[in-house]
Amino acid sequence: MKLNGPPTPGDFEKHLKDLLKNFPGAGSGAGTPFGTTATPENAPPKEPEEPEVPANQDILDFNKTPKELKSYLDRFVIRQDDAKKALSVAICDHYHHVRRTLIQEEEHAKKDPDNAFKGPRYAKQNILLLGPTGVGKTYLVRTLADMIGVPFVKADATKFSETGYVGADVEDLVRDLVRQADGDIERAQYGIVYVDEIDKIARGENKAGRDVSGRGVQINLLKLMEETEVSTRSQNDLAGQMAAMMDMQRGKKTASSINTRNILFIVSGAFDGLDDVVRRRRRETAVGFGAATPTRDDWEPEALMEQSQTRDFIEYGFEPEFIGRLPVRVVCQPLSVDDLHEILAKSEDSLVRQYESAFEAYGIHAQFAEDGMRRIAELASEEKTGARGLMTVTERALRGFKFELPSTHIRSLEVTRELLDSPESTLQELLGQEKEIAEKQRVEEISKMEQAFAEKHGIQIQFTEEAKSWILEYTTSNDKSIGLFLKNQFKDLHFGLKLISNNTGKKEFELDLEMAQKPDPTLSRWVVESYRTEGSP
Ligand code: ADP
Repeated sequence: MKLNGPPTPGDFEKHLKDLLKNFPGAGSGAGTPFGTTATPENAPPKEPEEPEVPANQDILDFNKTPKELKSYLDRFVIRQDDAKKALSVAICDHYHHVRRTLIQEEEHAKKDPDNAFKGPRYAKQNILLLGPTGVGKTYLVRTLADMIGVPFVKADATKFSETGYVGADVEDLVRDLVRQADGDIERAQYGIVYVDEIDKIARGENKAGRDVSGRGVQINLLKLMEETEVSTRSQNDLAGQMAAMMDMQRGKKTASSINTRNILFIVSGAFDGLDDVVRRRRRETAVGFGAATPTRDDWEPEALMEQSQTRDFIEYGFEPEFIGRLPVRVVCQPLSVDDLHEILAKSEDSLVRQYESAFEAYGIHAQFAEDGMRRIAELASEEKTGARGLMTVTERALRGFKFELPSTHIRSLEVTRELLDSPESTLQELLGQEKEIAEKQRVEEISKMEQAFAEKHGIQIQFTEEAKSWILEYTTSNDKSIGLFLKNQFKDLHFGLKLISNNTGKKEFELDLEMAQKPDPTLSRWVVESYRTEGSP
């Protein structure tokens, strides 16, 4: 055995290749460890034929206008008009450009297949979304990605700085796009990457020296935003590396990298403190002009954010090249109580509808009263988490109802202001009525049975009050379903009653306690008596 140090990556690769040669289905034709050789009969099934529709068909078909995108967004996202417009324009521009380039590339390939197509340089419309949490930033982008039919991935920027292996992780975003596109690299190359909490890796302000790893993430993201090739297999993914080698052994061609040229990047964050940077800059500029023009100092933070310029972002802690690659900047507004109310009442996939259908699954008809929705909006606004607060508040108030009601006889629930203010006592009150409601429903079951009997057999039956009370009490104390009990207890009733009816012409019967408790002997007696009646003069 050679003893010249630990194996090198090259040794490993050779070893792995040797191993794979002897792997079933490796396609070399050599004997396998199991003594069989690939023949047409036992050969692995052929790879499925390439699909007819090109992977980039959605892009080739893209023919939307910004107005169409905006009206689509209006169906789901409340407010954020500026953001909707800016995003619609940027996304339309981007995909129209990508579509044009694809067509030009195809035409060029036909005419001059030996030389790559060189189009004019295009500045990508990557987007920076500013705004507090839960106001619809992600929702806007996700809705657009769904509408256009491109893969979408989202991650928090903070995740990258924590690992230490910054570069590799940022590239995972692009690999995730492939996963979202079901392994289709071509489609992944037109996807949208969304990085939230970008402000958390940029805080240079008031700090001695910037966060080193934050700067690293910015630089790595910058590479992706410009244009780079990302390997489809992460270097840390041993299984992936092995799968790639097996594919190679089988002669299967797998594209090994993803080009990021046409991937749209959207970054977002709350940017706390950016308003101060803008305010300071405005003040300093005014001083620079001899303080002749007084500057307003009472702007709302959002209004100040809207005036932010590249230099403010640099001051805030971004690398100039990084911020330069984010030319579209949009401020999303905080949501007022009215907005939150509108989200509940009007948005197409609103929370109210989700709750209604969750209760409906148990046959419970839940209804949100106007004052109830208003109260949810007010309480949510206090949470300061934007529309996310709606879910928090509703879940907190309705949790007990969701747990208790499905196993009761309660079939309707009205979500009112009162319920939201005191959910526990409302629930207890409702459960207190449960006995009454249950009793009512059980009495109804008896009436339903009487009705069904008349419809089916043409004979009217009616239990006496005494018989009804006994049935109710008996089924309750024996924990029996009243429907099942009635079905079993009186399964032969129609035979006897029809006989009696034939003999006597009687079409209505009162079923007494004796009949309820012992139907068979009682019915026999009634039948015998009916013959007597018939025979009597
Ligand atoms: P963020 O701004 O933090 O990215 P999200 O877009 O993730 O917030 O919002 C969380 C959820 O709140 C969304 O999935 C959506 O259901 C709801 N939501 C937020 N803003 C709006 C809005 N403007 N209109 C309708 N629903 C909204």
